[in-house]
Amino acid sequence: MNKRFLFVCNFKMNSLDVMEYVNAIKDDHIDNLVLCPNFCDIKDYAILKRNGIMLGAQNVSEFSGGAYTGEVSASMLKESGADFCIIGHSERKKYMFETLSQTNQKAKRLLEAGITPIICVGEDTEKGDDFAVRYVLLELNEVLKDIAISKVIVAYEPIWAIGTGKVPSNSHIQNVISAIKKYTGVEVCLYGGSFGENNYKEISSLACVDGALIGGASLKPNLIVKIQKDLR
Ligand code: PEP
Repeated sequence: MNKRFLFVCNFKMNSLDVMEYVNAIKDDHIDNLVLCPNFCDIKDYAILKRNGIMLGAQNVSEFSGGAYTGEVSASMLKESGADFCIIGHSERKKYMFETLSQTNQKAKRLLEAGITPIICVGEDTEKGDDFAVRYVLLELNEVLKDIAISKVIVAYEPIWAIGTGKVPSNSHIQNVISAIKKYTGVEVCLYGGSFGENNYKEISSLACVDGALIGGASLKPNLIVKIQKDLR
C-alpha cells in the first residue's frame, strides 16, 4: 500500500479494557490508528501513546465551558489526551437530535482547542450516487460554515451501511468522496459503514479514500491490528 490509510476506531458506548489493545499491539509502533473510547476511558488509553497510537473522543460540547450539566468541553478532551473527536455521528443525530448547526459549533470548539474534528455525514436511504452526493454536500454546506477546511477530516458514512453489514459499491464510495473533496476542498476523507475483514482490501485500495471510521470491528483489537499490518 502506498498511502497512509488512517484507522479511526469508534468504540461507541462500550468499555473495552485497554489491555486488549495493549496485548494486540505488543511492542509494535503504529502511527495511523486513532482509538476513540468513551469519555471515562480516554485517560486509561494514554498508555498506548508510547506505541504511536492516537486518541480521540466520540462527542464534545458545543460550549467552551460553564454551567452545562453533563457536558464535556474541548479543552477537557485535550487535557485527557485526545487529539481527534468524532462529531455529527448519525447516532447522535438520531437519538440525541444533534443538529447540523450544533455540529458546526462543536467543530469550532474543537479547532480552538487544537483537536481535529472528524465530521460524519451520510445519506439515510440507499437511492444512488446523485442522491448521496446532494445529501452530503447539503450537510457539509451547513457544518463547514466558517471552518478552516484544511484542519478537518470528513467521514462519509451512509447511514444504511452502519452496523448492517451492507457496504456501497466501490464506485459509489469513489463518486461521493470525490465530490466531497472537489466541492468542499476537504483534503482528508474517510469511509465508514460495516468496514471490516471482508471489505478492507477493496475499500483501502480506492484512491480517494484516506482511511476508515470503524464501529463494530473496532471492538476486536486483534482484527484491527491484523488489518493494519496487512495494509502496511
Ligand atoms: C460507525 O458507527 O461509525 C460505524 C462505521 O459502525 P460500523 O463499522 O459498525 O458499521
